[in-house]
Amino acid sequence: MENSTTERLQDAIATYRNSVDYLEIRVEQSESTSLAFRGKQLDAVNRSFALAGGIRACHQGGWSFVTFNGLEELKPRIEEAIAQAKLVGKETTQLAAIATIEDYVKVELKRDPRGVSLQDKRQILEAYNQLILEYDPRIQTTMSSLGDVFTTNYFVNSVGSCIVQERLDVTGRFGAIARGEGGIVRQGFESIHSRDDFNSLIGVEDRVLGAAKRAVNQLEANSVKGGQYTVILDPYLSGVFIHEAFGHLSEADFVYENPRMQELLTIGKPLGIEQLNVIDDATLENLPGSIKYDDEGVPGQRKYLIKNGVLTQRLHSRETAGKMQEQPTGNARALRANYPPIVRMTNTAIEPGNTPFEDMISDIEEGVYAVRMLGGQTNGEMFTFAAAEGYMIRNGKIAEPVSDVTLTGNVFQTLKDIEAIGNDTLFTNGGCGKGGQMPLPVSVGGPHLRIKNVVVGGR
Ligand SMILES: [Zn+2]
Repeated sequence: MENSTTERLQDAIATYRNSVDYLEIRVEQSESTSLAFRGKQLDAVNRSFALAGGIRACHQGGWSFVTFNGLEELKPRIEEAIAQAKLVGKETTQLAAIATIEDYVKVELKRDPRGVSLQDKRQILEAYNQLILEYDPRIQTTMSSLGDVFTTNYFVNSVGSCIVQERLDVTGRFGAIARGEGGIVRQGFESIHSRDDFNSLIGVEDRVLGAAKRAVNQLEANSVKGGQYTVILDPYLSGVFIHEAFGHLSEADFVYENPRMQELLTIGKPLGIEQLNVIDDATLENLPGSIKYDDEGVPGQRKYLIKNGVLTQRLHSRETAGKMQEQPTGNARALRANYPPIVRMTNTAIEPGNTPFEDMISDIEEGVYAVRMLGGQTNGEMFTFAAAEGYMIRNGKIAEPVSDVTLTGNVFQTLKDIEAIGNDTLFTNGGCGKGGQMPLPVSVGGPHLRIKNVVVGGR
């Protein structure tokens, strides 16, 4: 199948390559299963095979994007894409130059989820779901799911590249909802992800139970007293912070359209303490955001967005790199082949520093330890995050649990207010949303972070 697919796509490109400035075809074949429990009820079981395709053409700076569902429609769809691009193109096409690449990227599978029956998957999920339900009488309901998707992605373009990439995502998500006195409701979540092994979902009882424990523990917490505190973020939350509050601002499509951001995000500008290093690294192994090539055929890379406290780089597609006269970074990603690639992150993280947790906390008289993430939003430079769990820090020690810990601030001020960077690190899988393409697999990572003067809102 793969050989005939690439041949058909290459034939089509050869026929039309000279009709426009740029042409690319992407085709994705996928095979997936998903199962979900809500409380005791099996909520959904799905197994599907799908083919999705997308064609992008660019002519005189004008873009078109046309989708298709079967290779038999390929030629009329390409002609449609070419006609549309010519209709809107009125300027010059500016795309950063890239090398021609031919490659076949295989997944080295450990246990293949396609060889596991739906019945076995159901039993595994049901057992975990039951563990959460039985953990405590205050657990009211659950949201538990297992999913696996194996995709084969074909990419050909008028530059002459022909890339086939396989990809596996195995995911387990576990949510516990607990109800306490006075109708108070708390949630706890856990998420497990693997790029090569169904067995990553086996024997994870402790992690699954963690979701239930966190939900129940938070029932005991009283609302935090609002105010400014020295705050320690756990690695999960520091990863979310750097992705949401800073990473999205590093996406060059956003910077390019926004004069204020161009000024705030001038390359070479100091943004934080010298120990602060922020990476977006597609080359880390087996994380959700790890890619060999992006959806424009540009190799995935390790980039320093901030190096020694100074802004060094931003994230590009070929178009944003061409327009801003910078190098492409391999960050053009599409949710699926029937969506156009846009500038996205991969695995985004703060690199570990050298401060042990005990040293970070020891001289804090009164502060807040914020753990994991419940939700949040950003608006330009401003962010608000709700921590999933909180604890007061008193006289250098973790004290009583507190609830309703929301952190608000301006990202540039907050980067300057980082006082210490932990010597630990942890990557968490996430789903990023942008331009109606969600959830795109990414990961966020970081060490513990100590930040001064954080506005913490209680209830
Ligand atoms: Zn995001």
